[in-house]
Amino acid sequence: MTIEVFASPWMREEHRLLADSAARFFRERWVPHAAAWREAGIVPRACWREAGAQGLLCVSTPEAWGGGGGDFAHEAAIMIEQSRANLSGFGGALHSAIVAPYILHYGSDEQKRRWLPRMATGELVGAIAMTEPGTGSDLQAITTHALRDGDDYVLTGAKTFITNGQHANLIVVVAKTDRGAGAKGTSLLVLETDDPDGRPVAGFRRGRKLDKVGLKAQDTSELFFDGVRVPAANLLGGREGQGFVQLMEQLPQERLIIAVQGIGAMERALAETLAYVKERKAFGRPIWDFQNTKFRLAEVQATVLAARAFVDACIVAHLNGELDAARAALAKAWVSEQQCKVMDECLQLFGGYGYMMEYPIAELYVDARVQRIYGGTNEIMKELASRFM
Ligand SMILES: Cc1cc2nc3c(=O)[nH]c(=O)nc-3n(C[C@H](O)[C@H](O)[C@H](O)COP(=O)(O)OP(=O)(O)OC[C@H]3O[C@@H](n4cnc5c(N)ncnc54)[C@H](O)[C@@H]3O)c2cc1C
Repeated sequence: MTIEVFASPWMREEHRLLADSAARFFRERWVPHAAAWREAGIVPRACWREAGAQGLLCVSTPEAWGGGGGDFAHEAAIMIEQSRANLSGFGGALHSAIVAPYILHYGSDEQKRRWLPRMATGELVGAIAMTEPGTGSDLQAITTHALRDGDDYVLTGAKTFITNGQHANLIVVVAKTDRGAGAKGTSLLVLETDDPDGRPVAGFRRGRKLDKVGLKAQDTSELFFDGVRVPAANLLGGREGQGFVQLMEQLPQERLIIAVQGIGAMERALAETLAYVKERKAFGRPIWDFQNTKFRLAEVQATVLAARAFVDACIVAHLNGELDAARAALAKAWVSEQQCKVMDECLQLFGGYGYMMEYPIAELYVDARVQRIYGGTNEIMKELASRFM
């Protein structure tokens, strides 16, 4: 099976080389274990160190802070290859291109020095904890709070659906530092889950590793904070009450990432399906020979090309600092909807085998579904985009 790769305007030689080496690494080192990881419901902790040693973590973090010194295009090149390799369990994109940027953009030099180099090696695994059992879309309604007590904040509350929840030891927690001030009372606080001796900090507890429809190897989890003392020096941005603005500034990149991942997954699905229908026979001829198959896959091809062109344009805009929140929201919503349709069309052409988890198309199908939910649901994305119309 070969995945046809079209040139993207944002891909320079260095991005192509990085994509090639990431693809080789994923294919040779991780794909052979992917089924076992899905079975275990988690990737081994050692993967984080291995990815760090391979130069696949924090590629857009400046070299001065231990990162790869690249840009968002470097991150995107890796994400596409990881999606094409169908390795949805490893939360590297969230770690490198969502959590690290919060520290890079809002952290003090001391915070950057303390955390970013260790994120780049995989010693620290990042997570961001916004969603709570009682609220997801309505982020202003969170109840987790961090109240100042001397040189610390005392953090209390519960979070759920947190990507990298079992492995994470550096968690950006969204909490109210002023419970009466609505969005303006929201702050981002960085929790190191282990003390300098490697013991878990008092009051912090990981809950269940959640059993999901897809993303089976991803350790999405509940987290609990019961009076956890977080040094006041771990506040991002130097002042309380900036969390909501910081989130709004960074969420477009998170949404673009979801769209980028959708492209890699759709390209893989199309390649898998083309290979299958040319091999599998019915009524004495390959499935490919039926006009229905050709028409369906021509439509899928057009969808994938259109989605790629849309996402490419968003990446170029983002690299130029011009990606607005509305376009990022629409890219996330539209691409994830196309992804679900593409997976459904492709799975159908596998017949009964498409419904068997041993076939990558079945994994791609179940993994796609959450793309319309996380990072802000597609309904919220359309609501947001409509405000600019
Ligand atoms: C696998 C996975 C990984 C995740 N990773 C993370 C993570 O790392 N960190 C994190 O903080 N969160 C994470 N999430 C949480 C995710 O971002 C939320 O699930 C999502 O934002 C929706 O919130 P909710 O589940 O509370 O749904 P709700 O907000 O309860 O929404 C339920 C339904 O109501 C609709 N709805 C709500 N409000 C409106 C409205 N105003 N107009 C129209 N429709 C509306 C929604 O679109 C949805 O269809 C993850 C979720 C999953 C499933």
